[in-house]
Amino acid sequence: MIYFIDKIPDKDGFHLIHNNSCLRRFFTSSIIYLGDFDTCEKAFETAQKVYSKVKFCSFCLPECIEKEEPIYKPNRDLFN
Ligand SMILES: [Zn+2]
Repeated sequence: MIYFIDKIPDKDGFHLIHNNSCLRRFFTSSIIYLGDFDTCEKAFETAQKVYSKVKFCSFCLPECIEKEEPIYKPNRDLFN
Protein backbone atom coordinates (compact mmCIF):
# COMPACT_ATOMS: atom_id res chain seq x y z
CA MET A 1 0.00 0.00 0.00
CA ILE A 2 1.16 3.54 -0.78
CA TYR A 3 1.42 5.83 2.24
CA PHE A 4 1.62 9.59 2.58
CA ILE A 5 1.96 12.01 5.46
CA ASP A 6 0.18 15.31 5.92
CA LYS A 7 2.50 18.33 6.22
CA ILE A 8 -0.09 20.18 8.28
CA PRO A 9 -0.44 18.90 11.86
CA ASP A 10 -3.77 18.44 13.61
CA LYS A 11 -4.76 20.48 16.68
CA ASP A 12 -2.64 18.21 18.93
CA GLY A 13 0.44 18.59 16.75
CA PHE A 14 0.24 15.17 15.10
CA HIS A 15 0.89 14.66 11.39
CA LEU A 16 -1.57 12.15 9.95
CA ILE A 17 -0.50 9.18 7.86
CA HIS A 18 -2.80 8.40 4.90
CA ASN A 19 -2.98 5.88 2.10
CA ASN A 20 -3.58 6.76 -1.53
CA SER A 21 -7.34 6.17 -1.29
CA CYS A 22 -7.63 9.17 1.03
CA LEU A 23 -5.80 11.72 -1.12
CA ARG A 24 -8.90 13.24 -2.65
CA ARG A 25 -9.68 14.70 0.78
CA PHE A 26 -6.57 16.88 0.58
CA PHE A 27 -4.67 19.26 -1.58
CA THR A 28 -1.74 17.23 -2.85
CA SER A 29 0.63 20.10 -2.06
CA SER A 30 0.12 19.41 1.66
CA ILE A 31 1.14 15.74 1.37
CA ILE A 32 4.58 14.09 1.47
CA TYR A 33 5.04 10.70 -0.21
CA LEU A 34 6.39 8.12 2.28
CA GLY A 35 6.57 5.00 0.14
CA ASP A 36 5.03 1.62 -0.61
CA PHE A 37 4.95 -0.57 2.53
CA ASP A 38 3.57 -3.99 3.44
CA THR A 39 2.60 -3.03 6.98
CA CYS A 40 1.33 -0.12 9.04
CA GLU A 41 4.38 -0.43 11.29
CA LYS A 42 6.85 0.21 8.45
CA ALA A 43 4.87 3.24 7.34
CA PHE A 44 4.83 4.52 10.93
CA GLU A 45 8.61 4.12 11.32
CA THR A 46 9.25 5.96 8.09
CA ALA A 47 6.79 8.72 8.99
CA GLN A 48 8.63 9.24 12.30
CA LYS A 49 11.82 10.02 10.36
CA VAL A 50 9.95 12.96 8.82
CA TYR A 51 7.98 14.13 11.87
CA SER A 52 8.34 13.06 15.52
CA LYS A 53 4.59 13.19 16.24
CA VAL A 54 2.64 11.04 13.79
CA LYS A 55 -0.54 8.96 13.85
CA PHE A 56 -2.81 7.18 11.41
CA CYS A 57 -5.80 8.75 9.69
CA SER A 58 -9.06 7.32 11.06
CA PHE A 59 -10.76 7.50 7.63
CA CYS A 60 -8.34 5.57 5.43
CA LEU A 61 -6.31 3.51 7.96
CA PRO A 62 -8.63 2.48 10.82
CA GLU A 63 -7.01 -0.99 10.92
CA CYS A 64 -3.64 0.62 11.70
CA ILE A 65 -5.10 2.66 14.56
CA GLU A 66 -6.44 -0.47 16.21
CA LYS A 67 -2.93 -1.93 16.25
CA GLU A 68 -1.48 1.27 17.66
CA GLU A 69 -4.09 1.84 20.38
CA PRO A 70 -6.08 -1.28 21.21
CA ILE A 71 -9.74 -0.55 21.88
CA TYR A 72 -12.51 -2.67 23.32
CA LYS A 73 -14.48 -4.63 20.75
CA PRO A 74 -17.45 -6.92 21.40
CA ASN A 75 -16.70 -10.57 20.82
CA ARG A 76 -18.39 -11.32 17.49
CA ASP A 77 -18.43 -15.05 18.24
CA LEU A 78 -21.19 -14.46 20.77
CA PHE A 79 -23.57 -13.53 17.97
CA ASN A 80 -22.89 -16.49 15.70
ZN1 LIG B 1 -6.61 9.43 5.40
